[in-house]
Amino acid sequence: MARTIIEPFRIKSVERIRMTSRDERERLIRAADFNVFRLHADDVMIDLLTDSGTGAMSASQWAGIMRGDESYAGSPSFYRLETAVRDILGFTTVIPTHQGRAAERILFSVMCKTGDVVPNNTHFDTTRANIEFVGATALDLPCNEGRDLESRFPFKGNMDVEALEAAFRRYGRDRIPLVMITVTNNSGGGQPVSLENLRRVAAICREHECPLYIDACRFAENAYLIKCHEPGYADVPVREIVRQMFELADGCTMSAKKDGLVNIGGFLTTRDPELARREKDLLILTEGFPTYGGLAGRDLEAIAIGLDEVVEEDYLQYRIASTRYLGEHLTSAGVPILQPPGGHAIYIDAKRFAPQIPPLELPGVALTVSLYVIGGIRAVEIGTAMFGRTDPESGVETPAPNELVRLAIPRRTYTQSHIDYVVEVLREVYLRREEMRGLRFVEQAPFLRHFTAKYALLGEPSSS
Ligand SMILES: *Cc1c(COP(=O)(O)O)cnc(C)c1O
Repeated sequence: MARTIIEPFRIKSVERIRMTSRDERERLIRAADFNVFRLHADDVMIDLLTDSGTGAMSASQWAGIMRGDESYAGSPSFYRLETAVRDILGFTTVIPTHQGRAAERILFSVMCKTGDVVPNNTHFDTTRANIEFVGATALDLPCNEGRDLESRFPFKGNMDVEALEAAFRRYGRDRIPLVMITVTNNSGGGQPVSLENLRRVAAICREHECPLYIDACRFAENAYLIKCHEPGYADVPVREIVRQMFELADGCTMSAKKDGLVNIGGFLTTRDPELARREKDLLILTEGFPTYGGLAGRDLEAIAIGLDEVVEEDYLQYRIASTRYLGEHLTSAGVPILQPPGGHAIYIDAKRFAPQIPPLELPGVALTVSLYVIGGIRAVEIGTAMFGRTDPESGVETPAPNELVRLAIPRRTYTQSHIDYVVEVLREVYLRREEMRGLRFVEQAPFLRHFTAKYALLGEPSSS
């Protein structure tokens, strides 16, 4: 039996990639002030900026787009989504939203008040921002292995359960309106959470009569990693693992742009009818009527089909194998990455990649610039440009704890030769890493500065 894991699909419709030369890219990155967010996507050959909303839909989803029913109220497409969510995740109430953050905003507006604390393994940035927006505190409780970039522990996404118990002792149930757990842990390197950990977290929540919500964006990737690595689950079907994960939760928030296999959409679920009523009232205010929630009927149809396709084991085997393939080939080329390879992305450790560039000279940004110039590849810095802090009084800059560069892999979009090309480009950049130069900020916004910042190479005047 052949052992090669092939893409479990063939291609019916293609998008051209415009090839660019190195000279052209040097000009383009300068014109973009060395910030890859400022590039035109047409000028990028392999776009690994994010796996969010960048996947390819199936022929069956495109057929669903035609079938989508655009009735304002009671669309059959909504009922198909409701059925899919009930069959796969086990929730009977689904509140559609235009994307994940809209579900978060509604959830926290209804459940949190000023002074509250919401624990999570690691909050995603929009989750944190929506909690802080209602005056509550977002508390990250990753397990110890999760803080160590090199540990090969297979469930580095786990929550530190002792820290969760300590949080209940410290703040009391009155100040903790809900506990969240993010599967896989995106901000923690796309690392999965084990079912054992989910069960322990759920037991602590039950003991305190506190609701547990799952940030479900990559639930299927998490379930497949449980099947691969958690003792006792190798022969359990992914659908059953998913059922066991969600049966522990009181609700979830979902960005369908990830494991919904669509380009836009999200939803919120709950088991509490009174909460659902209040959430739907808010939904009507800003998103839309509860049977469409800011989406077109065709989007609801595509999500319903996507949820069914994402738990197919052939798909998941390919998905996890393609991320691991990139991670293993980079590791054998000597490129330092966050271990082990996560579900949706590989994170390069820019601190070890280019140790000659100190954190305040933005080694992660420097690496994104090299990847673009040498290979037309777009990646994203997750380091001091994104998470560093400038003291408003003194202007003193504190670097982020890690300098990572994320290569996120869009779903069903690139083939193995694209990934081989990425490995080859990285090998080249790594061989010439001593030529990489630090950068400085020329312009930055007061928050979420990495999206719009302008940079200049050290020792050069700014280009604009
Ligand atoms: C993407 C993401 C979100 C937010 O979803 P959007 O659809 O981008 O609004 C929330 N949590 C996690 C873990 C995510 O990856």
